[in-house]
Amino acid sequence: MSDYPALSMIIAGEHVTGGGRRTHAVVNPATGEVIGHLPLADPADLDRALDAAARGFARWRRSSAAERAHVLEGAARLLLERQDMIARNAVREQGKTLAEARVEVLMVVGLFRFYAGECQRIYGRTLVRPAGQRSTVTHAPVGPVAAFAPWNFPIGNPGRKLGAPIAAGCSVILKSAEETPASALAVLQALLDAGLPGDVAQAVFGVPDEVSRHLLASPVIRKLSFTGSTVVGKHLARLATDNMLRTTLELGGHGPVLVFGDADIERALDTVVPHKLRNAGQVCVSPTRFLVEESVFDRFATGFAARAGATRVGDGLDPAAQMGPMANARRPEAMDRLIGDATAQGARLLTGGARVGNHGYFFAPTVLAQVPQSAAIMNEEPFGPVAIINPLPDEAAMIAEANRLPYGLAAYAWTEDARRQRRLAEDIEAGMIGLNTTMIAGADAPFGGVKWSGHGAEDGPEGLHACLVTKTVHEG
Ligand code: NAD
Repeated sequence: MSDYPALSMIIAGEHVTGGGRRTHAVVNPATGEVIGHLPLADPADLDRALDAAARGFARWRRSSAAERAHVLEGAARLLLERQDMIARNAVREQGKTLAEARVEVLMVVGLFRFYAGECQRIYGRTLVRPAGQRSTVTHAPVGPVAAFAPWNFPIGNPGRKLGAPIAAGCSVILKSAEETPASALAVLQALLDAGLPGDVAQAVFGVPDEVSRHLLASPVIRKLSFTGSTVVGKHLARLATDNMLRTTLELGGHGPVLVFGDADIERALDTVVPHKLRNAGQVCVSPTRFLVEESVFDRFATGFAARAGATRVGDGLDPAAQMGPMANARRPEAMDRLIGDATAQGARLLTGGARVGNHGYFFAPTVLAQVPQSAAIMNEEPFGPVAIINPLPDEAAMIAEANRLPYGLAAYAWTEDARRQRRLAEDIEAGMIGLNTTMIAGADAPFGGVKWSGHGAEDGPEGLHACLVTKTVHEG
């Protein structure tokens, strides 16, 4: 607890704290103890941030690609130097294992390095015109961005929210989750220490609804970027409509995993079980509904439950822990409700199903089998360490179940049949599909969903272009 940092907002380059502001108590989910007090913005703070963001944009839109690349590369270097400290604080405030938190720092390092290169490739084009005429298409930064990042990737989400706007020449006001502020502040601080002007990127915290209403109503803001639940995403999208803001929305999912009889079942299990339990299942692309061909159902379900049941649950700072606690008190409550409802409706509980220990928010890796479609967990994003394993008769039934829900973020399939792989890639409604792999993200790959999982992408060239607008100039 002792080395958890003092918390502040960062407005116009200044650390803002105290002054009679309301505070939010930050809790270590492994112990339930309060580890810090976070100042929350009042309307005057938000107005100062908006003024600074307008100034920051006026300056940064004129910056050279080399200047942006210098900041992003410098921040990447600083994040690497500070990796251990940043990762430890992320574990203290969010709960995931230290190994996962360290990888999260590397994810941001990779993304900043990618955007340091990509910002030098914001090309336009010249159209073919008769002599004496000229038409050019250019891409300009969209303007100040209001960005909202959730608590599940306390380092990675702020990295995504900051990297692309900065590369594009925008300014950004980040409101990261109040549960995990130190991680977000560390990412921003690395950028500022690398030379980013203080009015280009800022961090505020507050009562989420107050902050989003205030920022999105301001004429300064030109884009909303939000990662979080579909219900909040829809609400913010409605607010964004009033000022016709550009939007990038990365919302909920309910990832189907189609497992066919011809798959390498042992390799699939060795890969998907740790992927399911990563970050205690609190991942938007977490696999949730395992749809298994009847011929291999028993083998898959038994193998899954054995591996999940053997997973060591503990404080993320304990090197022996393979899965940490859930991030906040709301999550085990949701698990109790969803699992209780499923078993009451006839689902079989193969392992887990209960909280672990008597302090913190630990929950056992859980496997439910033969879960009826009417159960809430078959329809609501579980966002926890619970796998649903259901038998299905054939490919058509599996695809129909995969596409049944309004979500379309990540989907996975395990099959050795190349023709089937192509059919699945075409027919499954999802923004990202992993065939015989769970590796579906990378700095150079667009990350985003379809249907109720949102629109627009982060990462890759697409993430940068989401922060640009197109301008065409015709000269006679
Ligand atoms: P929630 O739906 O209230 O909050 C989700 C996120 O949105 C949080 O970061 C929160 O601070 C933010 N938020 C909430 N209301 C807001 C508002 N009016 N304006 C701006 N931001 C707002 O609930 P929660 O308990 O934090 O999370 C529960 C659910 O959210 C999960 O079950 C999961 O479905 C979803 N979630 C998704 C992601 C993701 O990566 N897509 C991340 C975290 C949570």
